Amino acid sequence: MPELPEVETIARGLAKRVTGDVVESVWLGQKKEPLKSPAAEIVGTLEHSRIAAVRRMGKHIVFDLERNGVARPPSKAQRARQAKAGEGPFDCRSGQVRPTQHRAQWIVHLGMTGRLQVCEPQAEVEKHTHAILRLSSGRELRFIDPRRFGRLSIAQAADFDAAGVEPLEVDLDHFILLFRGRKTPIKSALLNQKLLRGVGNIYADESLFRAGIRPRRRAATITREQLGKLFVAVKEVLQEAIALGGSSISDYVDAEGEEGFFQLQHRVYGREGEPCLVCKTAIKRVVIAGRSSHYCPQCQR
Ligand SMILES: [Zn+2]
Repeated sequence: MPELPEVETIARGLAKRVTGDVVESVWLGQKKEPLKSPAAEIVGTLEHSRIAAVRRMGKHIVFDLERNGVARPPSKAQRARQAKAGEGPFDCRSGQVRPTQHRAQWIVHLGMTGRLQVCEPQAEVEKHTHAILRLSSGRELRFIDPRRFGRLSIAQAADFDAAGVEPLEVDLDHFILLFRGRKTPIKSALLNQKLLRGVGNIYADESLFRAGIRPRRRAATITREQLGKLFVAVKEVLQEAIALGGSSISDYVDAEGEEGFFQLQHRVYGREGEPCLVCKTAIKRVVIAGRSSHYCPQCQR
């Protein structure tokens, strides 16, 4: 499953390749699962839109879309909002009609096995392709997902907001507040997407190891000082992985369709029974909330 660093790497790769391109037409497959918004809405919103930016929010890839002129008239509520803000086709202050720009977002969650591929139209369409966007540059952007846990959706007002805070942007005080009074194990709290966006299993285990905290410790019992170490560790681990281009263990490929990911050297994740790299104690594995957790019983307390 692609985690935050992989999604960041993919979003950066896509941003380089498709920013500024215009979606000319869209084909969607017959399978319903990948479509979180109605097919007609996805097609209607993407077609003739310019991709203004591609970025990561949590584990989502967000395509910011722009379209000149309003293909679809604004709703009553939108008109009221626009009038209040002095925006929209009719400018209350100047009395001038001005061209509007329709903004929306296409949001892609890769799920377990989802991939976005930028390719030439003659490239063979892979099995499990669920969406093909034909771009004005002549290339195609395809969404492929064998296991169909990935999701495609639209946010009309360009107001998509993933739950939780960005682990790379949160400040120390806010980070500490996230865990105050929580009786769940710290590992579960780190994986809770409503608290921190996009910290997955591997990076949670690696961060806890670096901070010297056992995954089963109740979040509320961890001292401010230890949370400070965890704060630094989470950012370090994610940033190192992003620098390496992600470290997914799945058979995962980047936006160019190349298998190009180096593996972050895991210090505990997946190393059950192997000696700790610091103290040589055997790494333990426990299951917390259904997820494997790896830790050193000597270094982590
Ligand atoms: Zn150790």
